[in-house]
Amino acid sequence: MAPLPATMPVAVFGRREITVEDRPVPALEPHDVLVEVGHCGVCGSDLHFVIDGWGRPGSIGGHEWSGVIAAVGSEVSRWSVGDRVVGGVHSCGECRYCQAGRPTLCTGRGRVGSGEWQGAFAGYVREHEEALNRVPDGLSARVAALAEPLAVALHGITLSGARPGQRVLVTGAGPIGSLVTAALLARGVTDVTVSEPGERRRQLATALGAATVTPDQLVAPDWPSSVVEEPFDAVLECSGRASAMEAALGQLVAAGTLVLVGAGIDPPRFDPNRIILNELIVTGAFCYDADGFTDALDLLAGGRLATDLLIEDNDIALSGLLDAMEGLAAGDIAGKVMVAGPMGRHDDP
Ligand SMILES: [Zn+2]
Ligand SMILES: [Zn+2]
Repeated sequence: MAPLPATMPVAVFGRREITVEDRPVPALEPHDVLVEVGHCGVCGSDLHFVIDGWGRPGSIGGHEWSGVIAAVGSEVSRWSVGDRVVGGVHSCGECRYCQAGRPTLCTGRGRVGSGEWQGAFAGYVREHEEALNRVPDGLSARVAALAEPLAVALHGITLSGARPGQRVLVTGAGPIGSLVTAALLARGVTDVTVSEPGERRRQLATALGAATVTPDQLVAPDWPSSVVEEPFDAVLECSGRASAMEAALGQLVAAGTLVLVGAGIDPPRFDPNRIILNELIVTGAFCYDADGFTDALDLLAGGRLATDLLIEDNDIALSGLLDAMEGLAAGDIAGKVMVAGPMGRHDDP
């Protein structure tokens, strides 16, 4: 085992700019593990941080990673150098939300993008030993890097209550909307319609097996008490756009559920009478189910997701991040963009 380098490249977020710099490789506390980043996906939240200015300049993003353990802290016994892992849920395990199986509402959870947290657009990432998940044998590290966004998609599906036999609408076919669509279909929810303005993204939805519409086809009924002719049992809103959130509400069956998965800046204008008269449920979905990563890795290892469609063909380097983010923000890119870890070891099985 070669000794670890002292420094590593990292991508530092600024306001609509990203610089690649050298930083010290993180030191380990006794229960920490150091992971050499194999792949890290670009997330919509990374776009919000860099393009929309939500982030603190100087932070290092990237939370959709897979990698190989390069070093373990002095008290770590469950992991060894060479193990292939993805990140996981950070939660205390003791507060009322953790006890209720909702770890992402944990009151002890740190704010992502602030303080000590360093993301995986870097050579290495440091993680607590309890927040790691083993990559199943036979699953490539590159595909395993979809585990985090897939866990997000699965959480949205859980909160939607969608099940086989129901009609489901997905608004927005960016990377999360596409993963929601693929996961619904893989779980036997076959009547899935995707609303998306971009042609490339609609093509991807079609290739995954969904019906597609353009947003202007989602017309709400005139009266707040009426529902459309072929209403949906659930809508998963993945675009973060106010217009899509508003339109989604008008597509629901009585007692239907709208899940807001995509985050946006502009607030929607909901008709409260439509919610009241149809007893609609509107909820947000933030991060994961308690078993979200295990479920996601199982689904990926099962081979039923079209990961070749869901991941963009060409991996990028840290220096290509800003271009990829601009392309994603413009809707030009349909699949998940993967950054190849800058240390250069991508030893897929
Ligand atoms: Zn993400
Ligand atoms: Zn907790």
